[in-house]
Amino acid sequence: MSESHQEYIVISGARENNLKNVSLRIPKRKITIFTGVSGSGKSSIVFDTIAAESQRLLNENFSMFVRTFLPRVPQPDADAIENLSMAVIVDQKRLGGGSHSTVGTITDISPILRLLFSRVGQPYIGQPHMFSFNDPQGMCPECNGIGRKLSVDLSKALDMSKSLNEGAILLPDYSVNGWEWNIIAQTGEFDLDKKLSDYSDEELERLLYAKARKVKMDFAGKATNITVEGVIEKFTNKYIKQDVKTKSERTQKAVAPFISEGTCPSCHGARLSQAALSCKINGLNIADLSSMEVGQLIHTIREIDDPVAAPIIKSLMERLQHLVDIGLDYLTLDRETDTLSGGESQRVKMVKHLSGSLVDVTYIFDEPSVGLHPRDVHRLNGLLQKLRDKGNTVIVVEHDPDVIKVADHIVDVGPHAGSRGGTIVYEGSFQGLLESGTLTGTYMKRPFQLKHDCRQPSGKLTIKDATLHNLRKVSVDIPAGVLTVVTGVAGSGKSTLINKVFLSKHPDAIVIDQSAVGVSTRSNPATYTGIMDDVRKAFASVNKVSPGLFSFNSKGACENCKGLGVVYTDLAFLDSVKLPCEKCGGKRFKDEVLAYKFNGKSIAEVLEMTVEQALEFFQLKEVVRKLQTLSDVGLNYITLGQPLSTLSGGECQRIKLASELHKKGNIYVMDEPTTGLHMSDIGHLLGIMNRLVDAGNTVIVIEHNLDVISQADWIIDMGPDGGSKGGQVVFEGTPSQIIHAEQSITGKYLGNALS
Ligand code: ADP
Ligand code: ADP
Ligand code: ZN
Ligand code: ZN
Repeated sequence: MSESHQEYIVISGARENNLKNVSLRIPKRKITIFTGVSGSGKSSIVFDTIAAESQRLLNENFSMFVRTFLPRVPQPDADAIENLSMAVIVDQKRLGGGSHSTVGTITDISPILRLLFSRVGQPYIGQPHMFSFNDPQGMCPECNGIGRKLSVDLSKALDMSKSLNEGAILLPDYSVNGWEWNIIAQTGEFDLDKKLSDYSDEELERLLYAKARKVKMDFAGKATNITVEGVIEKFTNKYIKQDVKTKSERTQKAVAPFISEGTCPSCHGARLSQAALSCKINGLNIADLSSMEVGQLIHTIREIDDPVAAPIIKSLMERLQHLVDIGLDYLTLDRETDTLSGGESQRVKMVKHLSGSLVDVTYIFDEPSVGLHPRDVHRLNGLLQKLRDKGNTVIVVEHDPDVIKVADHIVDVGPHAGSRGGTIVYEGSFQGLLESGTLTGTYMKRPFQLKHDCRQPSGKLTIKDATLHNLRKVSVDIPAGVLTVVTGVAGSGKSTLINKVFLSKHPDAIVIDQSAVGVSTRSNPATYTGIMDDVRKAFASVNKVSPGLFSFNSKGACENCKGLGVVYTDLAFLDSVKLPCEKCGGKRFKDEVLAYKFNGKSIAEVLEMTVEQALEFFQLKEVVRKLQTLSDVGLNYITLGQPLSTLSGGECQRIKLASELHKKGNIYVMDEPTTGLHMSDIGHLLGIMNRLVDAGNTVIVIEHNLDVISQADWIIDMGPDGGSKGGQVVFEGTPSQIIHAEQSITGKYLGNALS
């Protein structure tokens, strides 16, 4: 192999999904950005071909024995893939891991902090693991290192303004004259007519918290020894100390309203043992440091002046600085990773790799700009360049023009989506892309306009004195009947204001997010939109058989795969392996069902059609209407039978939108709906939002995309910055007003984009 050849990852004849024998070279140790409309085939190249092959090669390094336990990665459909190095995928999948996974643990910063305390903390208490809430010796014994505990919600359990006779105890089993109530009454220790608010502390303590004791009582004329216990004590022992999940569903439902999760009374949420918490540096313990915003933590660590700690502090600062560089200075190390947004998760994962010492790795990013304000995009670019400069190959799927600009090499996939895409329409420099005449190149150059004829609201939805997370007593009116865009840098409080505060008051609002649609592996666009019902009826009436035959949950389904088209083989302790069904070859139906035709096509052939092809094929009014809504949201290219589980987040969001298009009088909330969308698709999306508003709905969108912001009827800008430096509304008004609002960072960037 020649020297220059090794400077490239070489792909020949790639045919995954819609790819049409694609061949290309990706320069190593450079940043290559893949662009193109959604559905054009970017992921098919980057994930299904390059990343899949890398994973397969990795698995080949294991012994045959180990390999039998690994998920089988089939060879991607391509003639050759050469010069691949190990690939690391840094995607937007949320970081799970429950309460024991935090920003500090996932970035490997917490172990360094523990090392620091074990070396220079006073008093000296021992090894680093003593400072870990995941270690039995470090964790708070009361809450097992979780920081929270379940307890009885007294405000729900008791009505202090009533007496026992009036039913002051609201817990189940304590209704007046009920079994438990009688036991309390029979003790003779309590005044049944006195309001609980008039009880002395001692009386209340005995009623609520007394330990179990035997009392002789008269029951049905017989003296009996009965165990008496404080009301809350008893409830706690019965339903909180024991796992309530072991009780009947009815009981669980009955007690749930009285149980709330609160801060652990022993560690006050710090999760650590008293010994660990008593160890301090400059008067602060490890929990104090972990609950500081990273921006502030850096200043605090810098103050530590101890020669023993110098090397530890150096590596700590380096990693913390990475968090700042990537625009996450508003996070705290103790923040649980499952509360991070997709974009935040991806950037946190990135920090881990920046600190790592791997070289010659192929890093693959899926739209890293998601969740980033235009102000912070250059920081992301800096980190991509840093990864490259360490000697790695960086491959990015991205739609944001400001990220695309930093590419050393651009691959534009298209020209359109699905079967009308799957080829490379441009390869080369950014300047060249602008002159290429491709959809991406053309959109990059188009002039940008502000909306001037903004709609008048039909009413208002009020938020008053909101204080959740970083919100500083925010009071704001959201106009009804218009398109409102909520903007602001990451961490300024947009999602807290809309997704938490607003939605808790308006549970009737319809949230259209990017989470997966369809619970069943059998769901596809045809079943989700209801097209399948009409198609089944059409097949049935033409062939004079039962419609049920054409459902893959029915007796018409292939018996071998039960209508899935694939067979899952479970392996002892790893992901199950998915193989195409041998019996039906993935067609999902029995041969006899496939023999029934509608206009010359079998049911399997219909499910293989794209929305666009189906629109040409069907004349049925209802089917056409439903297909048209899929087409209207830009999903022309998906096939009717494509499992919903293979759709991207952006596609899931649009398929949900498609089924909402004919409704009226609703409130819609969307969080970054432009994710996964090419600049040319955004026009489509705006069209849909405007249709919803014109039909009498209220649409509220959280967005960073300047195209969407410029087309709002009303903008609510949060800020001024992230975390404790944010949490205020800095601007309310129209697009043409925000560009003159000095306090608004968003306005400044919108203004720059116009010039
Ligand atoms: P992009 O990344 O450019 O948005 P994709 O590579 O995800 O595009 O998709 C290219 C085409 O292949 C689309 O028509 C998409 O619906 C289809 N496709 C993607 N994944 C699958 C799959 N697992 N099964 C069937 N079709 C798929
Ligand atoms: P935005 O949506 O503008 O990016 P968020 O509303 O997500 O901002 O965050 C605002 C502030 O609230 C940030 O400081 C963030 O770290 C904090 N925050 C958000 N969600 C949580 C949570 N579940 N627990 C603790 N803090 C949170
Ligand atoms: Zn605790
Ligand atoms: Zn089958």
